[in-house]
Amino acid sequence: MERIEGFLQERESKGLLRRLRPASKRANGKIAVNGREFVDFCSNDYLSLSFHPDLIDAGNQAAREYGTGSAASRLLSGNLQLHHGLERQVADFKGRQAGLVFNSGYQANLGIISALCGKSDAVFCDKLAHASILDGIRLSGAKLFRFRHNSPKHLQKLLDNNRDKFENALIITESVFSMDGDIAPLRDIVELKAAYDCLMMVDEAHATGIFGNTGSGEVERQGVTDDIELIMGTFSKGLGGFGAYLACSGKMKEFLVNTARSFIYSTALPPSVIAAGSEAIRLVKREPERRTKLLENSDYFRQSLQEKGLSVLGSSQIIPVVTANIELTRRISGRLYEKGFYVLPILPPTVPRGQARLRFSLNYAHTKKQLDEVIDAITKITH
Ligand SMILES: *Cc1c(COP(=O)(O)O)cnc(C)c1O
Repeated sequence: MERIEGFLQERESKGLLRRLRPASKRANGKIAVNGREFVDFCSNDYLSLSFHPDLIDAGNQAAREYGTGSAASRLLSGNLQLHHGLERQVADFKGRQAGLVFNSGYQANLGIISALCGKSDAVFCDKLAHASILDGIRLSGAKLFRFRHNSPKHLQKLLDNNRDKFENALIITESVFSMDGDIAPLRDIVELKAAYDCLMMVDEAHATGIFGNTGSGEVERQGVTDDIELIMGTFSKGLGGFGAYLACSGKMKEFLVNTARSFIYSTALPPSVIAAGSEAIRLVKREPERRTKLLENSDYFRQSLQEKGLSVLGSSQIIPVVTANIELTRRISGRLYEKGFYVLPILPPTVPRGQARLRFSLNYAHTKKQLDEVIDAITKITH
């Protein structure tokens, strides 16, 4: 117990203790907290699909028809035709032979990586990769090499020095990075992957529904669909629902159904969640104007902040403003909160020391007027 006390006191004294803040409502780019409504810049519901009437109808209808729960894991009786239908859709959407649905992005990364890699293998992973990827690698027992963020050059150096010491090697990156909002040079990494005989896995959690001609993701946009063995993403962000997918070969799917423990030992996602996922993929195809407007607004927002002299990162709908010091970041966030903008500070250890930031996540429901107002507010606070 002393350890817990000590931990809490230390975090508190450094201003790093995290607390949960309950919202009473969250919809269409707004969030209500403590009886007040804010413009919500923290949500990953990028396309504002979570309140789309078609998605809600699809979920409701599936709940009425199949019940609220799935009752068992996929390998027992939890497996409905609905799940298979969604996996077929994922395969078509992503342009691969097979799709496999996982219960969350976290569970997908844990299950896939630990099933594929073992003690005699190596994983080469971007330094800014999501915690679920790192946890998957840790669980696998494979040797981890982290290459500098978006640096194929450093990756090549690590491969040169280490690849031949290991039986199998897997290269992992995100396509759109969650904390920096920038985009991986997938083509360069694919070249290295081929040259050094590795498998490759890409996490499209923040790209799904947003990038590419059909909205399937950044892998589509960069034209490397056929070069990447494991294309993973989630239904929980741009697609407005919950759960995750993997697009891969039929053999890979069969292997993972038999080996990925987070897939095998967890109850299947509820029918309503699966039906909403299916409808979301249809909507991404049917309403491309959602992603078009989102990306136009993102460019506008990023450029406007840059013109005001702020340090802005990224090239996506995630727009971090680096404010460097923890105190200042907290203060700006607090002032924006007073003015009706919900944008939380991202502090170490989530990001490296000295890189504290305010992270704006834009979504389809945000208006130009709201963007102009927050640009105005942050400019006044920082000048
Ligand atoms: C959010 C996220 C996950 C986890 O997905 P969940 O469905 O929320 O569990 C995995 N990878 C990345 C890059 C993410 O941003």
